[in-house]
Amino acid sequence: MLSAEIIAVGSELLTPEKTDTNSLWLTGKLNEIGVEVKLKTIVGDDEARLEETIKDALKRSDIVISTGGLGPTEDDVTRQVSARAVGRSLVFHEHLVDELRARFRRWGREMPEINKRQAYVIEGAEILPNPNGSAVGMLLEAADKFLVVLPGPPRELKPMFERYVLPKLKAKAGEIFVKRRVLKVSGMGESAVDEAIAPIYKSFGSVQTSILFNKSEVEVHLFAQGDSDADAGAMLDDVAGKIAEKLGTAVFALNGESMEEIIGKMLTDLGQTLSVAESCTGGLIGMRLTDVPGSSAYFTEGAVTYSNEAKMRSLGVPKEIIEEHGAVSAETSEAMASGMRRLAATDHAVSVTGIAGPDGGSDEKPVGTVFIGYADKHSTRSMKMTLPGDRYLIRWRSSQAALDYLRRQLLKTPQ
Ligand code: ATP
Ligand code: MG
Repeated sequence: MLSAEIIAVGSELLTPEKTDTNSLWLTGKLNEIGVEVKLKTIVGDDEARLEETIKDALKRSDIVISTGGLGPTEDDVTRQVSARAVGRSLVFHEHLVDELRARFRRWGREMPEINKRQAYVIEGAEILPNPNGSAVGMLLEAADKFLVVLPGPPRELKPMFERYVLPKLKAKAGEIFVKRRVLKVSGMGESAVDEAIAPIYKSFGSVQTSILFNKSEVEVHLFAQGDSDADAGAMLDDVAGKIAEKLGTAVFALNGESMEEIIGKMLTDLGQTLSVAESCTGGLIGMRLTDVPGSSAYFTEGAVTYSNEAKMRSLGVPKEIIEEHGAVSAETSEAMASGMRRLAATDHAVSVTGIAGPDGGSDEKPVGTVFIGYADKHSTRSMKMTLPGDRYLIRWRSSQAALDYLRRQLLKTPQ
């Protein structure tokens, strides 16, 4: 697999205001053709540091791509520095000046003399035309390495890369087919997932696996390369299948779907409906469910019942339950779910009540204590969780826990 390295040039990219997005876009494009980005660097408009960076990059990577710093002004140094880094001179191209002059004239302006700088190209490099700007790009193939020098503005860089660079790199990379797949796991920690599945993915040498924790779920990223699309796909199917079998119902998505999408699919398949009663999540569950297009087919309504009074009035939670057990209790969560289901006349209802903090916790019920309630026509049940994190995370994780609890109930629902 060819390795690539991206150098984003520009002092503004080292300020808190500006983000280097070019490298994200380039990484996506390179991955699609089976080229792996091994390193990214952001360098200010600093000749010495940039030269050192380009030289080092060419020692360790097959493909080096720089973006930015090709403008006509004094602080745009990429052109001369990259020439120096590869030990070549810059060659003046008269036709580039003519084109620049014509370009300025089309805008009704005279070309400033400093723009002549943009007509210099590294000796032996291919000139990459820029229909959207004044700076041409450069592609130098030498000693089995590629140095690609691109302008900074995304609207100039993207078409240039796709049209003139990508086909060349693709030919160099050969016919490699890459496929990715993301499995999502809930109710298990990152290390527990790794411990369970390491023997599986380690036995598949050609599939790269990475495990990461994302707010409330563990993601297993699988990446395979094969000689054909079907070959790469078959490898991924094989590993994904074995991992899913090992982790059982903890795996909720086999193709990167969100929890709310999975809930939507399950309810659609069952042809059944859902309502939700929320306290500490304040409508987050309803929002997530309705983020999914077509959710009106199964989601009928949600109630945000934040106060005790609202829980009683809108959901019919008996006053005695709240007085005896508290608003954050198994009993209240169950009364919220069964009340919601009765009033909304849905097949399923789920509820959440908890303490998101930072205040309101006690020894008995610390911040993060959350009860999830569930009701269907057969029964009402609940579960207690103690979730870590700040207010934002506790609310998010509560919404995820509620949806996951619902998912596990739906798995038991006969078709
Ligand atoms: P120009 O001829 O426009 O000066 P240039 O090649 O010199 O082009 P820069 O001056 O470095 O490019 O950047 C021009 C603009 O392009 C920046 O103001 C910024 O908005 C955008 N840009 C540059 N680098 C990046 C990057 N890595 N990610 C996202 N945007 C970028
Ligand atoms: Mg510039």
